[in-house]
Amino acid sequence: MNRSEYNFQRCKLCGEITAKPTYNLIDSTVYTCRNCDFHFLNHLDSNSEKLSKITQLDEKSRKYIESRFEGSVQLDPERVELVQKYFDLSRCKTLDIGAGLGQFQLLLHAQGAEAQGIEPSSIRREYAREKSNLNLRSELVDNHFWQTGFIQHFDLITLWDVIEHVDFPRETLESAIKLLKPGRMLFLDTPSREVLSYQLSQQIYRFVPGKMSLFLSSFYSTSPYGHKQIFTPQQLFKLVENLGLEIVFSARSYTNKLFSNHKIILAGRKI
Ligand SMILES: [Zn+2]
Repeated sequence: MNRSEYNFQRCKLCGEITAKPTYNLIDSTVYTCRNCDFHFLNHLDSNSEKLSKITQLDEKSRKYIESRFEGSVQLDPERVELVQKYFDLSRCKTLDIGAGLGQFQLLLHAQGAEAQGIEPSSIRREYAREKSNLNLRSELVDNHFWQTGFIQHFDLITLWDVIEHVDFPRETLESAIKLLKPGRMLFLDTPSREVLSYQLSQQIYRFVPGKMSLFLSSFYSTSPYGHKQIFTPQQLFKLVENLGLEIVFSARSYTNKLFSNHKIILAGRKI
């Protein structure tokens, strides 16, 4: 696929040429698919020049990383707990895709797992090396590094808050599943499109087209590694089943609080 010439009328989920520009945001447009109703932004990181500009871990980027750190690690203990319901982690070979600062990986290490991680952002990798002595890999999961040396290698693959950020989620998941041993498991979570704020935004946009994107712009971003697509639970379940996983667990939130059903959490076993 020539990513620099990607035709956004081609739906990133079903592959049909049935996507239409639907919601105009400030610097981008959300395309919606007439065939499968997938919603995605007309922006790819692989086409972005912004990415190459942030390469150094300096005082400013260090502060930014630290300010975002708190929120991103809060869920990790619950994620480990979830994984442990299905796994004795000791001696498991694990791969965390989109590892961030490697915090989840550190928790798996502590349980005795042989844990590896992929993180595309060089400043996050550098930070993880500096703070935790972790060597996160830069090669993306579809890179030949993984696809030649690690086929059916891992017992556990995790993608926490990742598939909404990648350019091509179907291809990312497909590549990840190839690295999984048969019978072993993939866990992921991602924001859900079935939340009130998203649905309200769509309805208001219909009445005041072009002027009121309301909360929609908070769901998507053209920033490096920003959100490029938001799934409904049904779309995601169907996708992972098509890619060869049997869904063994799904939920809409980590804690049982009212109104916290803003996520899609799922675990699938490779058939
Ligand atoms: Zn589609």
